[in-house]
Amino acid sequence: MEHALGVDVGGTKVATALVATDGTVAGGVKERRHGARDRDELVEAIALSVRKARATAPGPVVGVGLACAGTVDRDTGTVVVSPNLPLKDDPLAALVEHEVGLPVVLDNDVNAALTAEARLGAARGVRNGVMITLGTGVGGALLIEGKIHRGAHGCAGEIGHMIVDAHGDPCRCGGKGCLEAYVAAPGFERIGFRTVGLFERGAFTGELIGRLAEEGSAAAMQSLETIGWWLGVGISNVVSLLDPEVVIVGGGLGNLGELLLGPARRVVRRHPLPPARDRVRVEQAELGTAAGAIGAGLVAWEQRGADAG
Ligand SMILES: [Zn+2]
Repeated sequence: MEHALGVDVGGTKVATALVATDGTVAGGVKERRHGARDRDELVEAIALSVRKARATAPGPVVGVGLACAGTVDRDTGTVVVSPNLPLKDDPLAALVEHEVGLPVVLDNDVNAALTAEARLGAARGVRNGVMITLGTGVGGALLIEGKIHRGAHGCAGEIGHMIVDAHGDPCRCGGKGCLEAYVAAPGFERIGFRTVGLFERGAFTGELIGRLAEEGSAAAMQSLETIGWWLGVGISNVVSLLDPEVVIVGGGLGNLGELLLGPARRVVRRHPLPPARDRVRVEQAELGTAAGAIGAGLVAWEQRGADAG
């Protein structure tokens, strides 16, 4: 049986998945740590992961899909800028292709994750959907009329940098009041510190806040209520713009699930115009960290179909 090899390239790990054309994964998603400090080391680490995965394939591997965080130009296979990889205007697809001798296609990691969720997960059967990932930063992706929308410069879906408070908290992009400043890890820390005042700055992680909330800490619940409220503001803006069927929340901090989605939904049910606000579903992602690698494999299949005409 033929497989495409999906590769999720993270700042410290490379995850691979052998993906059949129907999305079935052979042998699960495998992760390898890497310590790449520059472009060449990263290409080497990716090529090694590809070779290892290819050796375990139960049949031919037809192509490779790469997914990574940042702005990518899918047409040229170039990483324009990435928050966690030592790449800038680098033709990653061509560099990896040269090493592994297979056709390589490149996409943004959240685009890949939404592709997987749309085929196999929380956005199954959906034609218009949005994905938001919460982690160190905020990622986003848009599915419009059944297709991932990449925009004119590959920047579409950067929901984290929508302005939700023009005079608000600083964002790592240099701006102020971006959604990311409230609902990614640094925002959790800041809001937790502000709301609760009980924790040392820097110790207030999403994981800790989730554990405290599960244990019934009123202070932690109050912080999550505030963070979820901001998330709801961001989602409401997206719903007003795109009127999707579903908004999926994923990423490491997205694992907090209903603790964040409950407060976010309450905002969404009030703000966008009806019937969008009543009908849009706000759901947790289903595929977890596997979504990037699986989606990258699906993107490789999609590209193969397009190339075949
Ligand atoms: Zn920003």
